[in-house]
Amino acid sequence: MTTQDAAATDDLPLRDDLRGRTAYGAPQLDVPVRLNTNESSYDVPEAVALEIVQAVAHEVRHLNRYPDREFTALRADLAAYLGHDLNADQLWAGNGSNEVLQHLLQAFGGPGRRALGFTPGYSMHPIIATGAGTGWVDGRRGAPTGVFDLDACDVARQVHDVDPDVVFLCSPNNPTGTALSLDVVEAAYEATPRAVVVVDEAYAEFARPGTPSALSLLPGRRRLVVTRTMSKAFALAGARLGYLAADPAVTDCLRLVRLPYHLSSLTQAAARAALRHADALLGSVDAIKAQRDRIVAELPALGLAPVPSDANFVLFGGLDDQVATWEGLLGLGVLVRDVGIDHHLRVTAGTPDETTAFLRALARLTGGMVQQ
Ligand code: PMP
Repeated sequence: MTTQDAAATDDLPLRDDLRGRTAYGAPQLDVPVRLNTNESSYDVPEAVALEIVQAVAHEVRHLNRYPDREFTALRADLAAYLGHDLNADQLWAGNGSNEVLQHLLQAFGGPGRRALGFTPGYSMHPIIATGAGTGWVDGRRGAPTGVFDLDACDVARQVHDVDPDVVFLCSPNNPTGTALSLDVVEAAYEATPRAVVVVDEAYAEFARPGTPSALSLLPGRRRLVVTRTMSKAFALAGARLGYLAADPAVTDCLRLVRLPYHLSSLTQAAARAALRHADALLGSVDAIKAQRDRIVAELPALGLAPVPSDANFVLFGGLDDQVATWEGLLGLGVLVRDVGIDHHLRVTAGTPDETTAFLRALARLTGGMVQQ
């Protein structure tokens, strides 16, 4: 929302807790190299696109009817994709994982309740919390190992002290990129006898080998929730399909707050067709990881400090003025993200050509040299 827009809403009966707030607003600019929202730069492969079109086309004839409100077949397909002995009753989905997070906050947050997240984290966690009338508490990061890391004891202490209703962990974390070790998740869970602990694993498929998923912790932990999305590794951001795995009792709670028929039959068909071709869609993950690792390897030569990443993006520090660098890169046709951390920017790992364009543009701005 611009300042002008904010003034224009002054005389409207907007909720007091929304006054003066800024809406989510990652720029959507038509520039040659778009590396600011962690989408996949790879188009859906032609063969998969045709399968999705056929699946959607089949549904079009039946659009006179509401979709399966329980998206039963899709839940079974998502459970099969995740493995970990999950079954359909443990799966839930929405129009992007943002909607799934909103369902969680509507059910387990709300007026008089509070959510705790560890900053810097995913910027939508506090925005969705606020939208659901839930108070937001900024937890601290900064383990002895690194300024953006989380340490199990420190997390447990903060969860215990704040005593929130919902805890957000993000692994791999956006915007910093690093995954959590499972002892942090276990510590957060054990530090509260009542809070729902949400592990946002939107970028799980990009994690470095040996990085465990919190899905393995689900058995016996009724308050633990793991969220995922098809927007990143599946290259389907435009389809809007996010999901979670949790105890079946949790998904029952979410049925109380979702709108009836929230997942259109077109979305369900597209997601199911995509899951049938998971291998092909996930085929670009290794190429993206290679570009991510290339960015991490090459930035130090420009005098910059990349944060090790398990995601499809890299946060890097060492900039004198990140706003000026962001503008300079944009002027050279490269859109990256200013996530509001002084001296840092975040860049999505794209195709090899996009990565080259980013590195060359950055070298021009910093006066450095990059490898080809
Ligand atoms: N979680 C994290 C950590 C994210 O970075 C994003 C998207 N940027 C999302 C959730 C939401 O993605 P979507 O709604 O497209 O599933």
